[in-house]
Amino acid sequence: LFDALADMAALAIERVRLVEDLDRAERAAETDRLRQALLTSISHDLRTPLSAILGAATTLRDLDDALARESKTDLLDTIVSESERLNRFIVNLLDMTRLEAGAVAASLTLQDVGETVDTALRRLGPILAGHAVALDLPAGLPALRLDPVLFEQVLVNLLDNAAKYAPEGSTVTVRGRVEPGRVRLQILDEGDGLPEADVERVFDKFYRVRKSDSVRAGTGLGLAIARGFVEAMGGTLTAGNRPDRLGAVFTILLPVPPAGHALAEPAA
Ligand code: ADP
Repeated sequence: LFDALADMAALAIERVRLVEDLDRAERAAETDRLRQALLTSISHDLRTPLSAILGAATTLRDLDDALARESKTDLLDTIVSESERLNRFIVNLLDMTRLEAGAVAASLTLQDVGETVDTALRRLGPILAGHAVALDLPAGLPALRLDPVLFEQVLVNLLDNAAKYAPEGSTVTVRGRVEPGRVRLQILDEGDGLPEADVERVFDKFYRVRKSDSVRAGTGLGLAIARGFVEAMGGTLTAGNRPDRLGAVFTILLPVPPAGHALAEPAA
């Protein structure tokens, strides 16, 4: 009986090993597939703006004398805007890599939310020029413990999306509300909004809702990074649709530092 049991145990162990090997092989194949898809997507995102830059620069070099002033300005505009797009993409990739390596350490100091919102809006400048921006921030918003660089990047990513996915001429609203122990900050737009099934998936790396979104410059990284940064500051970031069905709403919840904390905080 003992031998029979030992044989059975040996067989069972062998089986488990086989299943484990299979699992491992499947996981390796899946990782390989993902890596391949990632490389394809990154190469595409790098090549599109690069070809535009190369095309414009070559035309400028070869046809310089024959070109009218306006055509030159157009070509130079293309070079500048496509270089900016390339730069944004690379910054996004680096941010994502840092997040995944756990290398994003928030350096928290007391910040005025309104001021950071202003800085982000200034940085976006021309991107938001075609939209009306409505600021709905109460005067008494408490200072929050934030990393100004990370927080500004979060706002830039959300506002950039609002500009991208809502029609020109529509209004982008930045709303702040004080709640017990926390501040609710929302970016509301008047675009297509999000399919309910996608309100979580939009935070996945490289996920884009609509096929047609690929005509609009984007990497599918902005929201993944924004959520990572907000969480690094002790907050949460969620997506949804406005109750008035006008468009999408992104909600940041951030803790209010305990009373007295503000005064004790060294501005490090
Ligand atoms: P990107 O904008 O570069 O594609 P994001 O991570 O910022 O990447 O967004 C992921 C996807 O979520 C977008 O491709 C778009 O489909 C959707 N999305 C993001 N913001 C909005 C918005 N304000 N309104 C509608 N859809 C949005």
